[in-house]
Amino acid sequence: MNKKQANQLEFDKNHVWHPYTSMSSPLPSYMVESAHGVTIQLASGETLIDGMSSWWSVLHGYNHPKLNAALIEQSTKMSHVMFGGLTHPSAIELCKKLVSLTPTGLEKVFLSDSGSVAVEVAMKMALQYWQSKSAEHKTKTKLLTVRNGYHGDTFAAMSVCDPVTGMHQLFEQVLMKSHFAPAPTIGFYQPWDESDTQALAELFAQYHSEIAAFIIEPIVQGTGGMRFYHPNYLKACRTLCDQYQVLLIADEIATGFGRTGKLFACEWAQISPDIMCLGKTLTGGYITLAATLCTEEIARTISDGEAGCFMHGPTFMGNALACAVANASIELLSENNWQQQVATIETSLKCLFTPLNQHSRVKDARVLGTIGAVECTQSVNVAKIQQRFVELGVWIRPFGKLIYIIPPLIINHAQLQTLTNAITTVLDEDDCFN
Ligand code: PMP
Repeated sequence: MNKKQANQLEFDKNHVWHPYTSMSSPLPSYMVESAHGVTIQLASGETLIDGMSSWWSVLHGYNHPKLNAALIEQSTKMSHVMFGGLTHPSAIELCKKLVSLTPTGLEKVFLSDSGSVAVEVAMKMALQYWQSKSAEHKTKTKLLTVRNGYHGDTFAAMSVCDPVTGMHQLFEQVLMKSHFAPAPTIGFYQPWDESDTQALAELFAQYHSEIAAFIIEPIVQGTGGMRFYHPNYLKACRTLCDQYQVLLIADEIATGFGRTGKLFACEWAQISPDIMCLGKTLTGGYITLAATLCTEEIARTISDGEAGCFMHGPTFMGNALACAVANASIELLSENNWQQQVATIETSLKCLFTPLNQHSRVKDARVLGTIGAVECTQSVNVAKIQQRFVELGVWIRPFGKLIYIIPPLIINHAQLQTLTNAITTVLDEDDCFN
């Protein structure tokens, strides 16, 4: 690392907030010089194989020629125009693609800036829908969800995150009060048992008159522990929502665009939600962008209501650069045969991760689609384990008791092997754990 970079890193340490770390004694940050394909090049010289896809967002690898070209081409026309009163082909094309690819019934698209905002928009849509529908539905002002969920860091989103790990105590005075059912317990690969939805059904029965929407991450509870739950649970959610006149919000921000082996995780349960949130992989990992889709009925009811429109409008709504890259990224999915890519990664991961279950520090090693998760018996020492991963030539960012990978779709078996070998190595190192 040269002197300038060392100075920059020092400034970063003293002045720049990084997520979920102290500003007074921050966890180390590693300076990145560039990233190509599945590798990240550090300023200090190391080349790391990326196991994280920059928090699930990079689908086709870094610095992709087609995505770069889309970005440059769009920038020669315009990078951004306001979406109020103006529109442009990149946003229209993207919304057309989203309507055609997402489950049946999702017809109207609201573009926004990030996953958390897409969730805010979804919740607001649900609340405004019932407020607009009729006087008898005005009591529907709360959200129902399950424990172990994660939907973002803004206030409304936080109110439906897990109440223990979601920092509810810290913001108790201002957070909306939501209803929480126990998390699904029956795993994706386990035999189904109806009893898993009993407590949820009871909450629906008791509180439906005050519940506007039920929100859930379909099939994979990500930040809440990489928990892969049974598709029949999601099916039951759809049935309960229909039975009790509650809108179903599917937060596919982490699971969308092939990550679980289906284009959208809702497809595992063959259900269509009333509202769907997309983000992360929608962007190809380039520029922040999110989308909230809803049904014709929701859009019409809101538009026919007192306000006459949906009350939201971010400055960077429909950003042209982000939309152009998202279009190119979606095109790459079929050009690259994403089903084959995901199936190949899943086969490799199952073969590499299954033996980890023999390790005394592993409670459960599991795989679904491109997600490989190792749940440990102890929480990790993030600073130490991170340092070791860098020394071992990989980028893996564990949290709590979880070491997980969710690599770009272009990763090959040898690279997955390197990631798994690094995990196997740190599992044997006492100082990597608390
Ligand atoms: N929902 C889910 C399921 C997520 O995993 C995340 C991000 N980890 C969000 C919402 C929030 O997205 P963002 O970080 O883009 O605000």
